[in-house]
Amino acid sequence: MPGLYVVATPIGNLGDITLRALEVLKSVDRIAAEDTRVTGQLLAALGIRKPLLSVREHNERQGAEKLIGKIAAGEAVAYVTDAGTPAISDPGALLVQAVREAGFAVRPLPGANAAVAALSAAGFPPGPWLFYGFLPPKTKARQDALRDLERMSCVLVFYEAPHRVRETLADLAGVLGGERRICIARELTKQFEEIACMRLEAAAAWLDADAYREKGEFVLMLAGAAQAAADAGEARRVLEVLLQELPVKQAAKLAAQISGEKKNLLYDMALELKGK
Ligand code: SAM
Repeated sequence: MPGLYVVATPIGNLGDITLRALEVLKSVDRIAAEDTRVTGQLLAALGIRKPLLSVREHNERQGAEKLIGKIAAGEAVAYVTDAGTPAISDPGALLVQAVREAGFAVRPLPGANAAVAALSAAGFPPGPWLFYGFLPPKTKARQDALRDLERMSCVLVFYEAPHRVRETLADLAGVLGGERRICIARELTKQFEEIACMRLEAAAAWLDADAYREKGEFVLMLAGAAQAAADAGEARRVLEVLLQELPVKQAAKLAAQISGEKKNLLYDMALELKGK
């Protein structure tokens, strides 16, 4: 069927290509790609040969015009980025918008996404989360952006490149406070995959503990302000006192009544204080 297929590709493990992605990549007339060399390698590994066309950030509008011409002529075209889901901290949104405005169908093929994969294995309490993507590269702009997010009660999810992860962790601790919990997901679906949760004040030491840690790709997930406040505040102090005399469940229940904080949050905190 003519139109644009937005196809998610693996974020490290070839096995994460979906059956439907395979079917569509095999059947389309043409594949537009963020980087034709990267996609060429993926297609070679999958045993697929198709005409490729480059549509990346700096030529997305012109690329969109070309593709719309092909679709108007009856072609089915797939769009893929280097890894994961197009248009999620990746090019693709302008292309999608242009194809829609030209009156042609745009069909998504869901699949790998680093943020969702990271969250699925981080163990934050269920509830809202905010996907931010990449913070600004310059320190001042990054710190300003974090100040805007400081009071948000939802989990915050960032992407970060290896060469900036150290300074970003420092700014996160500086603005959000060293007590706030972070889960760092690194190299997901790859050989050296790691998911580690700690307080922000411990994150730099975690990075230093292995020279390879600074390499690779990162998703940084931060507990929301509500949880952080509970961590740092009165509730924690109350809980610590109660835990000296009571079992975890009872201490958490009473601390919740006294402090007004959520019981399950205090229960988790109590387990953590007890080192369980
Ligand atoms: N569109 C992609 C997606 O759906 O996740 C994201 C592309 S963005 C240009 C690349 C960033 O995603 C990396 O810098 C890193 O923050 C994150 N990322 C991609 N693959 C990852 C992986 N295997 N493990 C951890 N983070 C990853």
